[in-house]
Amino acid sequence: MLKKLLTVALSTLILGTGAVASEHSTEKVSPADALKEVVEWNNSFVKSHSEEYFKPYMNAQHPTVTLVTCSDARVQTMALFKDPVDKVFVIRNIGNQLANARGSVDYGIYHLHTPILLILGYTHCGAVKAALHNYSNETEGIKEELDHLHLPLLPLVRCPSGNNFEKTWLDGVERNVNYQVQEAVNFYKPFIKEGRLAVVGAVYDFINAYGKGYGRLVIINVNGETDPKKLENSPVLKELSEQMKKEVLVTR
Ligand SMILES: [Zn+2]
Repeated sequence: MLKKLLTVALSTLILGTGAVASEHSTEKVSPADALKEVVEWNNSFVKSHSEEYFKPYMNAQHPTVTLVTCSDARVQTMALFKDPVDKVFVIRNIGNQLANARGSVDYGIYHLHTPILLILGYTHCGAVKAALHNYSNETEGIKEELDHLHLPLLPLVRCPSGNNFEKTWLDGVERNVNYQVQEAVNFYKPFIKEGRLAVVGAVYDFINAYGKGYGRLVIINVNGETDPKKLENSPVLKELSEQMKKEVLVTR
């Protein structure tokens, strides 16, 4: 407890208190207007999709990717698949964490047998920012989820990346992805050894922080390997052209 208090005090000193929640407020939309938008869009979806479209997966799903990503509205599967329907088994929570979702991830791996478990962080993740700051005023539920996230970020809280918070923030995003991948590698080791599963850690970059294009999927970890030079030769990336590898891997 004392250690935690000290950590929070220290992070407040270093990074200042984060007014995290206020940054997420949007212009006021009433519940009635919000629901109307959903029902209207669904109506046009029904009109534009016939029975034929649904037939292939009426009785079973066939995903190739189990995806663990943040709940953030800016991160959506259309960035990964032309049509993600029946392709992605999606698990979402704040900060793309395994600890809060083990049963769902197990289901994707053990029951749906997806060959990829993709842990997808993203630039400007509010949960990572919150976990880098003092979040003691949040609700019990939020605190509980952020506590798991706080753990892999502790070294950054104690020693931020200079005065550049953007860099500390991105380091935090990467550190969290790498932590979640390591957890997954430990949980699903036998499947990885058999070549049935690869755990891929990536950052969805919609602010072009890596300079590889807005909306780029940047791969930073495969089965626990984070060295871009070694990732180039990873069997998991063997179907990618040299050009594609250049686009998805970080050059440091
Ligand atoms: Zn987030």
